[in-house]
Amino acid sequence: MIGVTILGATGSIGTSTLDVLSRNKDKFYIVALTANNNIDKLFEQCLEHKPKYAVVVNEDAADILSKRFKAASLDIEVLSGVDSLDTVSSLDETDYVVAAIVGAAGLSSSLAAAKSGKRILLANKETLVMSGQIFMDEVAKNNATLLPVDSEHNAIYQCLQSFNGSTGLSDEVRKIYLTASGGPFRTIDLKLLESVTPEQACAHPNWSMGRKISVDSATMMNKGLELIEACWLFNASVDDVQIAIHPQSIVHSMAEFIDGSIMAQLGRPDMRTPIAYALAWPERIESGVNSLDLFAMSSLEFEQPDHARFPCIKLAEDAMRAGGIMPAVLNASNEVAVQAFLDNEIAFMSIARVVELVLAQTSFQVASDIETIIHADVTARKIACDVIASLSENHVGVK
Ligand code: NAD
Ligand code: MG
Repeated sequence: MIGVTILGATGSIGTSTLDVLSRNKDKFYIVALTANNNIDKLFEQCLEHKPKYAVVVNEDAADILSKRFKAASLDIEVLSGVDSLDTVSSLDETDYVVAAIVGAAGLSSSLAAAKSGKRILLANKETLVMSGQIFMDEVAKNNATLLPVDSEHNAIYQCLQSFNGSTGLSDEVRKIYLTASGGPFRTIDLKLLESVTPEQACAHPNWSMGRKISVDSATMMNKGLELIEACWLFNASVDDVQIAIHPQSIVHSMAEFIDGSIMAQLGRPDMRTPIAYALAWPERIESGVNSLDLFAMSSLEFEQPDHARFPCIKLAEDAMRAGGIMPAVLNASNEVAVQAFLDNEIAFMSIARVVELVLAQTSFQVASDIETIIHADVTARKIACDVIASLSENHVGVK
């Protein structure tokens, strides 16, 4: 039996992972489930899945959960505090770590999993965006196994695996196509983009996801972050990766080889497929996802991205080309700007403006160690808050 720890169990990826695991109880058992502060959902999950540990970052919430377990006669140890996330990632009985915390908050525990040589099912793309080199080095140094859960990267991984069991770009690979749905605002009148609401931004046409990544999909910063993620995962350069808007979200990404062959992975837009692949690799297990009805599909379309509509893509490309701390600064400023948009403080198009202004105010530094990256993250968040405050003072791009 394989012991699985899910970081961010109460989120969208965490919930889908539990669904796949519950269909494969003969192969996996759950070591730990973690949440930030949603103890109601974590309690329900613990009641059903009976992990050995439950981690709640918020200490007061952890106390309440502990009492609830006692009252329900559940023998589950409750841990609290940020460090507990690293602890459960490194436990001996944890074989696989599902890294599904959202944002920079997931960095430390993903790194802890790499340092202790686990199989890491990586959903938290921010880990690679912030600390790509350091994380990949730790994976290699500690013989960890890294399997991408992000659907596009999982698709590329599957396409590359079909060729010699390879996991990265080689002379035989011409390019990678990273597909993108284009989100809810692909065709909306550009003038209306200034006034779209968080609810409209979170209403993704094909995927059901957490609010932060939903907004990232609407700005297409998600694709920018994924481009950076792809570069690290597959040892590719920005120019090796072609973003292709594919509104149907059926082709999850592709790899093109030098003989002109293009391998693609197709399926329903349901994260349980890449999660099941990463859990079972190199085998396959049931995921609960139904067959894709090929005969119900009218067409598969592909378009070049519109950079005027989606300025975040270029910001991400430039940050990756610049290297060093710049992708971490991109990520941190984006997290602050997305939260400000979700809190109705800034307009949708101001998300890209904030990120651009923060990057412009940041001097390049080599990302030599995690401390440097965390410092860059904290500094970028402060600058982003100042930028947002000055937008408000000048009544530019605010609600
Ligand atoms: P979500 O918002 O639904 O869930 C986030 C989880 O992280 C929750 O369990 C929450 O309790 C936990 N969390 C939040 N802040 C935390 C903190 N400060 N400390 C500890 N835990 C914290 O997010 P999601 O949509 O499941 O996305 C999770 C990650 O997976 C993100 O990095 C996202 O980019 C990536 N991802 C998601 C999808 C998807 O379909 N949802 C697809 C690809 C990649
Ligand atoms: Mg994705």
